[in-house]
Amino acid sequence: MTIKHLKHYINGEFVDSYSGATFENVDPSTEEVISTVARGTAQEVDDAVLAARRAFEGSWAKFKPKERARLLFDLARAIEARADEFAKWEAMDSGKPLARARGEVMSTARYFEFYAGAADKFYGHSIPLGRDYLDFTLREPMGVTAHIVPWNFPMNMIGRSVAPALAMGNTAVLKPAEQTPVTATMLAELMDELGFPAGVYNVVQGFGEEAGAPLSQHRDIDCITFTGSVEVGRLIMRAAAVHIKPVVLELGGKSPHIVFGDTNLDTAVVEVAKGIFGNTGQVCSAGSRLIVEASVREQMVEKLAAHTNKMTVGPALDNPAMGPLVSREQYDRVCSYIGIGQGEGARVAAGGGRPAGLEKGFFIAPTIFDGVQPEMRIAQEEIFGPVLTVLSFQDDEEALAIANDSPYGLVAGIMTNDINRAMRLARDIKAGQIFINEYFAGGEETPFGGYKQSGFGREKGIDALYNYTQVKNIAIRIR
Ligand code: NAP
Ligand code: MG
Repeated sequence: MTIKHLKHYINGEFVDSYSGATFENVDPSTEEVISTVARGTAQEVDDAVLAARRAFEGSWAKFKPKERARLLFDLARAIEARADEFAKWEAMDSGKPLARARGEVMSTARYFEFYAGAADKFYGHSIPLGRDYLDFTLREPMGVTAHIVPWNFPMNMIGRSVAPALAMGNTAVLKPAEQTPVTATMLAELMDELGFPAGVYNVVQGFGEEAGAPLSQHRDIDCITFTGSVEVGRLIMRAAAVHIKPVVLELGGKSPHIVFGDTNLDTAVVEVAKGIFGNTGQVCSAGSRLIVEASVREQMVEKLAAHTNKMTVGPALDNPAMGPLVSREQYDRVCSYIGIGQGEGARVAAGGGRPAGLEKGFFIAPTIFDGVQPEMRIAQEEIFGPVLTVLSFQDDEEALAIANDSPYGLVAGIMTNDINRAMRLARDIKAGQIFINEYFAGGEETPFGGYKQSGFGREKGIDALYNYTQVKNIAIRIR
């Protein structure tokens, strides 16, 4: 495999780290190095923020909203035209099965398309103060936006947060995750070719503490969007507090998937499996707690185990149902949780370790724990891997109580044919998004974000535009 060398993209130039420092990026399917990456520090962050500031006040400010829109539409089309190339690198970089990587690339294009469409349609208001006044609001861009993204949907997260920021007239500085640096730089290459002005989109590659921290602490950024762990989310909030910068935090979850006995169990099996094993369980909104009506629990677990045992697991480029975990660190973390579950007395109903025949790569078989109690660590803590915990309930009240018994509140799934029951639960579950009868229903158009420790602020859809604009009210006395 050819090795790609990834540089920072600062002020329209591809540059190495000023110290010359690099790090190696590994393909989790093979454990081989596929790229060397510039290792950024506060100095590169300073220059990226300065470039973004100049572009915000200069070249980008001269673009009319409809001109920004055209450029972002061009980008969407260009991403689609190169989808195969992006998908191949994303698959090698993250371990995502090829077809899923392609889906992620197409969804990234869709974010640029969706927000391109919004660039000239996000209006202010006029406010009635009586005949002697004219009062109206302007939606102004924030300025320089900072984006710190994780490794589970590397390219998609760029689309999700950078596209609305640019559409509203902001400029951006991005710090990709060290495990998945490739598509951020590839996207910069594309934007460079398409003629985005220098400094509109900047990438500083590197590690969280060396590049992410100085970005989040920078005095001259105007807001921060962070997706990742609760622990780092706290650090980001603290950093933002110093210069009073608004933050959007998306911090993961332990989302319930409630299945009632009145639903078609074969459909439920497909939805539950998709909800937890998609992207090898490395999804903030994964349906990691199956909460199933006691009368059908045994049947459901049997069907799920049979389904799961048929799933193919293998290298991303072979396009299996499930690829590896992203890194050795995540592999060790998930293995340790499987040990914890066994120690807590839960029963392994499927998987439980490395699949036979896969010696290299960070592979874990899709795993189901039955007989899980709500207080167990595997029912409370985010594992971030292909591990489903099965809990059961007798009535709606108990289902609701278990669903809400979590420090997180990102999403919830409900499978039932009873619309009143579904709506009662949808009303009472504390989560930012509810899926009824189809897990992950929704799209780039639907707002997404957490209650409780899952974070705050909403990404996706029109709601995200509020993160990247501020309101100015102008009142005129007519004399
Ligand atoms: P993480 O440390 O929170 O990383 C997310 C991003 O923050 C990465 O770009 C990371 O850079 C950066 N970062 C790390 N420390 C930072 C700091 N002090 N200041 C500024 N930025 C910093 O997440 P992780 O370690 O990759 O994964 C750990 C756990 O987080 C997972 O097991 C999972 O539970 C959760 N997680 C959640 C999501 C989600 O979608 N909500 C996504 C990924 C992970 P580096 O890559 O260099 O560390
Ligand atoms: Mg990688």
